[in-house]
Amino acid sequence: MTTALESSDPEIFAVIGREVVRQNTTIQLIASENFTSRAVMEAQGTVLTNKYSEGYPGKRYYGGNLVVDEAENLARDRACSLFGAEHANVQPHSGANANVAVFFAMLEPGDKVMGMRLDQGGHLTHGSPVNFSGKSYDFASYGVNEQTEQLDYDQIRDQAKAERPKMIIAGATAYPRAIDFAAFRSIADDCGALLMVDAAHIAGLIAGGAHASPVPHADIVTFTTHKTLRGPRAGCILSRSEYAAAIDKAIFPGFQGGPLMHVIAAKAVAFHEAAQPSFRVYAAKVVANAAALAAALAGHGLRIVSGGTDNHLMLVDLRNFEITGKVGQEVLDRAGITTNKNAIPNDPEKPFVTSGLRLGTASMTTAGMGTDEMVQIAEMIATALRSPNDDGVIDAVRKQANELCARFIPYPGL
Ligand SMILES: *Cc1c(COP(=O)(O)O)cnc(C)c1O
Repeated sequence: MTTALESSDPEIFAVIGREVVRQNTTIQLIASENFTSRAVMEAQGTVLTNKYSEGYPGKRYYGGNLVVDEAENLARDRACSLFGAEHANVQPHSGANANVAVFFAMLEPGDKVMGMRLDQGGHLTHGSPVNFSGKSYDFASYGVNEQTEQLDYDQIRDQAKAERPKMIIAGATAYPRAIDFAAFRSIADDCGALLMVDAAHIAGLIAGGAHASPVPHADIVTFTTHKTLRGPRAGCILSRSEYAAAIDKAIFPGFQGGPLMHVIAAKAVAFHEAAQPSFRVYAAKVVANAAALAAALAGHGLRIVSGGTDNHLMLVDLRNFEITGKVGQEVLDRAGITTNKNAIPNDPEKPFVTSGLRLGTASMTTAGMGTDEMVQIAEMIATALRSPNDDGVIDAVRKQANELCARFIPYPGL
């Protein structure tokens, strides 16, 4: 059967087809990605995309919103119930937008904020000088302890007492260990700061009970819905009731225009999926797979930053293989293994080169892989990284990767 897209736009239809093949036949280890469900994708590809719904349920600027109001109410109620939160704003188009809205709601330009350094695991929106956050607010950054490569809560407390920030941001984009949100709460209380947690990466682990929840400790929690949570590409903000009005106003009319109702419906679907018992099993498997992959890589002589992982991701220091992150990523791409180069703490290389790789297990766990497959993948990675210039070796690994993927196809019907 010919689809509407196939007949009206064969070029884009073919591009999408090739991307389906890529996702189905190569190993995906990007820690911020996942394979969302067919149900989520179906909700996104609907007539809800046609509706303009500026405002919030019951208080819209245009008519005809009674039906989509139900979708947004379901998404909000499900987010609150999934995370035990008092208020949810499900309109952020992305994780970065969610963070900007929180800054807009809670801070004045120039206010002092503490966040994690980008080059040690933080996110661009946590005060990088090239980002809106670093340009608009006075960021003081904390990093990891040089010896342990882990957050050092005593150091952060001392720094917070000296800096006296108005807000502290906990959360990271490349930090492999559990984050102690109770410790961050106590640090924030010590210096009279608000505590914002950016749970973009670990939201699915939190929903599935595989990482402690920040919600009881934080004033505001932002997260993305497309990483471990496995929903559509978007963001969400949870907050205490006292900040609800300010957050809602910051998103609209403060900063975004009309919400993406088709994406909000897809977020509702993802929240429903994440509330099922099977999602708890999934979250536990993601963490077990990450531990197995890290241990197997260490067995091949690769150094794992901080000595291991507590969550879905790990940072691999490639220096004892005498290869940079940039080359490592390129070699693995040729070998059918998708990863991203990533700075390690105190990286001697430039950000576009780096000495490390960031690997995550959320996608391949969704595809059905377990710890045996992680051991095989570690072997393939080590083999490829040991012989970056040997095309025969790289081709052999690519064939192994294709064969492994053939047993765990994320989208068999596509
Ligand atoms: C991924 C990420 C974001 C940004 O999400 P986008 O949807 O790409 O804007 C924000 N914060 C952290 C910690 C992240 O890891």
